[in-house]
Amino acid sequence: MDNQKKYEKLRDVILEWNEKINVTAIRDPEEFMAKNVKDSLLLTGTPEYENAKTVLDMGTGGGFPGLPLAINSPDKKFVLTDAIGKKLKVVQAAADELGLTNVEVIHSRAEDLAKNKDHREKYDAVVSRAVANMSTLSEYCLPFVKVGGYFIAYKTWESKEEIAAAHNAITVLGGDIVRMDTSGVEGNGHMFVIVKKIKPTPAKYPRKAGLPSKEPIA
Ligand code: SAM
Repeated sequence: MDNQKKYEKLRDVILEWNEKINVTAIRDPEEFMAKNVKDSLLLTGTPEYENAKTVLDMGTGGGFPGLPLAINSPDKKFVLTDAIGKKLKVVQAAADELGLTNVEVIHSRAEDLAKNKDHREKYDAVVSRAVANMSTLSEYCLPFVKVGGYFIAYKTWESKEEIAAAHNAITVLGGDIVRMDTSGVEGNGHMFVIVKKIKPTPAKYPRKAGLPSKEPIA
């Protein structure tokens, strides 16, 4: 099956499950392809992503961007994680139906999984779309990134102020914003904030569950 057929199958499987378990607000098949599949795939071709062998998708929800990326990049190993188990049931079913052997699904809050030594500072790239503001998201994601790897946030053009406000948090967590990739914005897609991990994240981060969103690092 070519990749286009796989993306269509992914759409069909997710939309069918979506009737029973709500994992995406996008129910129109064409809109699904544009906003969930094409938008997720905007990251392909970005060197910081292409050079990664291990990728974690934090707050994957119904599998975005993780599932389209896993179809596109069979040589990379993906971990798709979320705090809501029933959404991951749908993600696992879709991965099984598509025969994606490069996908592992983990049910956890970021704040807990990031303390686990098998996952902390173990990934070449951590990606995340539509999960939290940039400061909170950095506390969720940067602890998982290996020093020398990248945290890549899918953000909208409107997030510019929130991104500027997260500079100190990113520094405290061991990151450095290396660039913004805005090439997808013209087609109404997301842009990317590309953060390099330049030193280890201090052990006290992430703080206990709930705190990163309640009191983002200022
Ligand atoms: N990334 C998907 C997408 O773009 O379609 C889902 C976005 S959905 C709006 C946000 C997801 O982030 C939810 O599924 C939620 O459970 C997850 N999430 C929020 N905070 C989290 C945390 N602290 N740990 C793990 N997952 C979290």
